[in-house]
Amino acid sequence: IIYDIGGGITNGKKFKAVQIGGPSGGCLPESMLDLPVDYDSLIAAGAMMGSGGLVVMDEDTCMVDVAKFFLNFTQSESCGKCTPCREGTKRMLEILTRITEGQGREGDIELLENLAKNIKETALCGLGQTAPNPVLSTLKYFRDEYEAHIKEKRCPAGVCEKMLHYEISDACRGCGLCARQCPVQAISGSPKAKHVIDQNKCIKCGACMTACPFKAISKA
Ligand code: SF4
Ligand code: SF4
Ligand code: SF4
Repeated sequence: IIYDIGGGITNGKKFKAVQIGGPSGGCLPESMLDLPVDYDSLIAAGAMMGSGGLVVMDEDTCMVDVAKFFLNFTQSESCGKCTPCREGTKRMLEILTRITEGQGREGDIELLENLAKNIKETALCGLGQTAPNPVLSTLKYFRDEYEAHIKEKRCPAGVCEKMLHYEISDACRGCGLCARQCPVQAISGSPKAKHVIDQNKCIKCGACMTACPFKAISKA
């Protein structure tokens, strides 16, 4: 569907994942691109047919951020009648938020899995029973991204803003363009000399990276 009918990934980017079945569906990796799109195959893979929608994501997507995005949606849809869904999804969202802000702790992955399993088994209706799916499927297929966030305080896709660091490399020619664009005067340096970013001042807006004509600024 993605390549033959949809024409593949735009801008020459690499395919990373597809979210199938709406906010309560699951995220499937590249290795499952040829999975038959039918009810049983999708359920077995940790996704579902749901609304039938496909959200295709490229290599610039952070899967922890994606899980947070979908859980945020289902959490706000929770009617509050039963405790597992009302409180459980809130707790899961808090953990995901911490992880994407660089405050992840050892044991968070296990805690998420435990909460997800309990919510799925005890929530009263389909919303709660399926709400943890995006978290479970990303944990299953993209666990290394969770580990990078928690253990290395690093977002491999360069999406989670609070974990980003903008750095100036030796390719800098000291033109000063970046410093003039920085809204918080975080960049300093003499003309024709390598400039530096004060990480304590940087608000991670990315304006310097866009401004540099020599591609001397990177984010990681
Ligand atoms: S599982 Fe259903 S009934 Fe329970 S709080 Fe969520 S939406 Fe309401
Ligand atoms: S990312 Fe924004 S705030 Fe940080 S150094 Fe660059 S321009 Fe300044
Ligand atoms: S814009 Fe690029 S080359 Fe110019 S000072 Fe900034 S980092 Fe260096």
